[in-house]
Amino acid sequence: MIDKIYCAEIKPEMERQRIKLAGWVYRKREIKDKVFIVLRDSSGIIQIVFKEELSKEAYGKARKVGIESSIIAEGVVKPDPRAPGGVEIQGDRIEVISNVEFFPITKDASEEFLLDVRHLHLRSPKVAAIMKVKATLMQAAREWLLQDGWYEVFPPIFLTAAVEGGSTLFKLKYFDKTAYLSQSAQLYLEAAIFGLEKVWSLTPSFRAEKSRTRRHLTEFWHLELEAAWMDLWDIMKVEEELVSYMVQRTLELRRKEVETFRKDLTTLKNAEPPFPRISYDEAIDILQSKGVQIEWGEDMGADEERVLTQEFDRPFFVYGYPKHIKAFYMKIDPEDERKALAADMLAPEGYGEIIGGSQREDSYEKLVQRIIEEGMDPKDYEWYLDLRKYGSVPHSGFGLGVERLVAWVLKLDHIKWATLFPRTPARLYP
Ligand code: ATP
Ligand code: MG
Repeated sequence: MIDKIYCAEIKPEMERQRIKLAGWVYRKREIKDKVFIVLRDSSGIIQIVFKEELSKEAYGKARKVGIESSIIAEGVVKPDPRAPGGVEIQGDRIEVISNVEFFPITKDASEEFLLDVRHLHLRSPKVAAIMKVKATLMQAAREWLLQDGWYEVFPPIFLTAAVEGGSTLFKLKYFDKTAYLSQSAQLYLEAAIFGLEKVWSLTPSFRAEKSRTRRHLTEFWHLELEAAWMDLWDIMKVEEELVSYMVQRTLELRRKEVETFRKDLTTLKNAEPPFPRISYDEAIDILQSKGVQIEWGEDMGADEERVLTQEFDRPFFVYGYPKHIKAFYMKIDPEDERKALAADMLAPEGYGEIIGGSQREDSYEKLVQRIIEEGMDPKDYEWYLDLRKYGSVPHSGFGLGVERLVAWVLKLDHIKWATLFPRTPARLYP
């Protein structure tokens, strides 16, 4: 590892200090006997000026170096109000590690092209800022989970049965058997609560969703929590505390990055518990009053949720969905048999669902009945049903789509920008 300083660490107070930098040539221009190189590293950018009079050799090399070449440069710190960041480097040494003649990404590149060369696009400061925000959101999640007493667990990805419904399963050959890629770790987390009570996992989830919306990927990162002894209302409190902590902490640690994507931070700052809660019935009334064609009993998709989010300036919950539009494992509301004890968290500004959660059915008989009602075979869920035979407890949990949260926090126009290498029906490369 070379002994270098990061661009963002250089301050005007370091005037006349000698420093070494390593990174990539972000921009370059020549004026008379000077070459201006804007150097980029993971922390940010800084301008280095190579003057012919200072070092003929460095000046000569700087003139020849191409955009996105990797270099090590040395020089002296010089405050300059005209330079970005109020400081620049008077460069007198440059070592070209790998010279680039022509970098494929130019100013007018289309979105499709950027995705085709995503492996090169990742170095753009904007993409790096998204990934930093994503990392910080997850760092915050871990901080919160640790201080609130949750155990991290590591569930399997090869599964034999569906969690979210058969139509979106990715099937694969598993020796002489058929396996599926996990859509959710939930059933396995449910098994883990009998030993650990409060558990969480972060795994990729795979869903063969053909619908081309702005919020669906075929592979996404899923943060899931499951807890014994909690009912729906308890788990909703966990959800709002967790999401609020993730968002507020990210505003604290990554304000600059967040502000490069959104000028208005109101909805993020507003994400403090308690989040508003409306019932599914109320949601339908609101939608109908706004002229949306939807009847009680129908599911809300991205379009309906977008309309609903206009009523809120912060994340909010919709609870009490009809049971037939929700998964078989959700507990039926004892006060209204038509409904499930389910709640989704929706992000404002058109984003919609970021969390799906529920209380789980803890009665063996009722769960078997629900599996049959949904046209499935209880035999396929034998181990899962065992959990209701041996010391069943009331329990609840939820899943948060990490990219969906990032998309809302940064107001991205599509969830694909929130992931390193997006996977969609049309894209499996690079
Ligand atoms: P939707 O109705 O939007 O398809 P869902 O109800 O199928 O979502 P859940 O099964 O509740 O989603 O999954 C939990 C969370 O995982 C969702 O709230 C969402 O944040 C995220 N999620 C689900 N499907 C996807 C996907 N295809 N791409 C990215 N994130 C997803
Ligand atoms: Mg859902």
